[in-house]
Amino acid sequence: MKTDILSMTFGELSDEFVFLGYPKFRAKQVYEWLHKHLVSDYDEMSNLPKNLREELKEKLPIHCCKIEKKQVSKLDNTVKYLFQLHDGDFIESVVMKYKYGYTICVSSQVGCKMGCAFCASTLGGFKRSLTAGEILSQLYTAQKDIGERISHIVLMGMGEPLDNYDNVMRFLELVTDEQGVNISMRNISLSTCGIVPKIEELLSKHLQLTLSISLHAPSDDIRSGIMPINKKYSVDELLKICRKYTNETSRRISFEYSMLSGFNDTYECARLLASKLKGMLCHVNLIPVNEVAESPYKPSTPERIEKFIDILSKSGINATVRRKLGSDIDASCGQLRLKENKNRKKGDKI
Ligand code: SAH
Repeated sequence: MKTDILSMTFGELSDEFVFLGYPKFRAKQVYEWLHKHLVSDYDEMSNLPKNLREELKEKLPIHCCKIEKKQVSKLDNTVKYLFQLHDGDFIESVVMKYKYGYTICVSSQVGCKMGCAFCASTLGGFKRSLTAGEILSQLYTAQKDIGERISHIVLMGMGEPLDNYDNVMRFLELVTDEQGVNISMRNISLSTCGIVPKIEELLSKHLQLTLSISLHAPSDDIRSGIMPINKKYSVDELLKICRKYTNETSRRISFEYSMLSGFNDTYECARLLASKLKGMLCHVNLIPVNEVAESPYKPSTPERIEKFIDILSKSGINATVRRKLGSDIDASCGQLRLKENKNRKKGDKI
């Protein structure tokens, strides 16, 4: 952590500069270069003397993401990046354009431990958690590449953000810093498979972000069949903390529900879901599952999804189908890394 300069808060960076014997104002200059001007090379920091730049390269290297591959959807201009980290690992980010601006979906880990049956991130295996700087660097690199300000962030890429709690909290602190890239906490969504004690910890911070819960099923027997985390924290335990969350923060929770044909899309599921969410300040996002080659699940039919929404709406639960962006470029989390690692194993030319 000590030498990971992109993960340091302004206070930590100032202390580090004092410790290294540099004047404090240099810390402010470097911090602004990194987090306001998104510079990733000391040589671009034109107001620093050359000898200081050389020393900093040695002492505090900047570990930023490099674009390994970039795909642009022909359908909707969604951009998917495969980034390489300084140690060679791959992660993915997706930039989407909405009416209100650009949104980036960032990864929080290399791979994932959570084991959700329909998700490509799990299939690729878990390698490690990302530092705050590595999460930030996805935003910085993408923003510089597209040449437009990215105003919204969703922590919905590879990995489970609440399984990397401390680094994700540090990322949130840095990305919302007025001295830095200054993204509003209200423009950030964090998605979790439901690690209940960590949701409780997050709640105690009373942040203005949007909490998304990957629910995907209204009952334990169905949910445990696709999400191992449910064996640890049941649907009812999860929904209990969600109610507490919305009551105490007055923030609407977003429930993600991937529609898996014949599995969790029955009318009975819709009715049970409606009864469990009744009266909660929430929204249900239905997602026709993105097919992953290695997984047996197929997306529900549009008619089935319509009917599902209808049942929820009649019970007063707000539900919509998520617009599917980037479906021609493997934009579902973990798909690109999975392909890349397989190709490399096979020794294919990339
Ligand atoms: N670990 C976090 C965030 C990453 S996944 C979480 O579980 O929420 C982001 C969202 O995409 C989750 O709702 C996840 O369940 C969903 N997802 C993963 N694979 C999918 C697929 N193949 N089709 C549709 N949604 C998928």
